[in-house]
Amino acid sequence: MKSNKIAESFNLKASECLAAGKYTEALENYNQSLRFAVNKSQMLSDAYAGRSKIYYEVNQLENCLKNIKKSLQTCINDEKCRKIESLREKCLDQINLSTSEKKENVTSEFFKLSHPQHKRVPFIAGCLEVRENDVYGRYIATTSDLKPGDIVVIEEPFYKVLDPKRRHTRCAICLKQNMLNLFPCVKCSNAMFCSRVCSESVVHRYECNDSKDDSFDKLLLQRMFYQAIEITGSLEELQKLMNRQTSSKTILDFDFSDPKNSMNDKNRILATTSLAEREPWSAEAYAKYESVTQQLQIETEDERKFLQNYLVRCLKSMTVNFFHFFWSPTKIEGQGLALCSLAAYFAHSCDPNVEKIDVDNKFVFITKKPIKAGEQLFMNYDRFSFLTHTLKDRQDYFNKIYTFQCACNACKDDYPMLNKLPRIDEKFIEPETKFESIAVAKLQYQKNCDYISANMDRYPCYEICLLMIQNYRLLHAIGNKLPF
Ligand SMILES: [Zn+2]
Ligand SMILES: [Zn+2]
Ligand SMILES: [Zn+2]
Repeated sequence: MKSNKIAESFNLKASECLAAGKYTEALENYNQSLRFAVNKSQMLSDAYAGRSKIYYEVNQLENCLKNIKKSLQTCINDEKCRKIESLREKCLDQINLSTSEKKENVTSEFFKLSHPQHKRVPFIAGCLEVRENDVYGRYIATTSDLKPGDIVVIEEPFYKVLDPKRRHTRCAICLKQNMLNLFPCVKCSNAMFCSRVCSESVVHRYECNDSKDDSFDKLLLQRMFYQAIEITGSLEELQKLMNRQTSSKTILDFDFSDPKNSMNDKNRILATTSLAEREPWSAEAYAKYESVTQQLQIETEDERKFLQNYLVRCLKSMTVNFFHFFWSPTKIEGQGLALCSLAAYFAHSCDPNVEKIDVDNKFVFITKKPIKAGEQLFMNYDRFSFLTHTLKDRQDYFNKIYTFQCACNACKDDYPMLNKLPRIDEKFIEPETKFESIAVAKLQYQKNCDYISANMDRYPCYEICLLMIQNYRLLHAIGNKLPF
């Protein structure tokens, strides 16, 4: 005979077992409870809910969801319903996480460092060094020979924000794509999230509004500030951290080898605030920091001064060190804005030997040409290369925007643009622009790299430059494969 009284006694036993981690016993008791519970009663719902908790604990998420569904069918107690709903959310998050990890693995098989990692900074190749001279200031060089296609840096920028126009495509906090599973902020229309963790970030509590006039750089400045507050805990603690900074260090002076080290994030703040600085483009930029801190309770004059100095410093650092995210090889406008601690030391060349590819929320730096031990690594700023812009255009641009005179090989020897370059290979077949699968793309990429290595003594020439352009597209395709 059905009896909720009997069912309840089994349920109590089951709960005790569950709390003690005795899952098999708990399961047996919940099953007993199910046996005796009156049809369509709350007792029946409770037993299913109990079983779903076990399945959640042992990570059998499909079964967990099935039991939740059953439980909700007969649940009439509001409070209990809410609890089951929240377990359902957690379960779904867990499932999303493991699917996106699986997807990530496919790309991370390809995008991994080609050389043993640095002892203290695991996301860069151990053969890279930050050096300093009068021409470039701090710059990056290699202590080993590198070949085309070597992945030397995979940096997730510490501070990063999404272009307001792209808010429906990526997580507002971590900028991961996870397009099929993004969920909206319950309060504002300016953010979607990939996970509970991101949705609960303190940073978004400050950013949570429906403001429409946010400029890209203001958003980044805001993020640089509130993220630092979130990490340190308060304005006072941030102030203490900054006071501790005695000399200007690069990220390589810190030790990030232990991912659990609680100082990691604080050291990232320090590494970023000691990057080069320059005056912002216009005096109006200074007005921006005032609106950034509107929501903050400023107690003392001392705090106000610190805040002002800190933000001016962020602003100056941002002005010269920012990077854009380009998830599509054809889009000219950046789709995200970011500040890196290591990549900021790449100097510009109109004929770079390193390519930056944006894979999910990371910047991957890959060599385009053979590079000898001791040589400097260069990237291209703002897509101003000798293939696309004349010498005069480039010189004018870098003079005006970055106030330096580019003295790269392409500028010194005035390399011709793509179609005027000498051709070296009569048998050269122009590469296909379409390819049927990622596997084919990877093969083509490898072939191109081999060709570049074998013919580098004839550089600059049409064939190699064309293959480098194609490699850029191939890498984008491999790195940014959409879920369908
Ligand atoms: Zn996220
Ligand atoms: Zn919000
Ligand atoms: Zn140049």
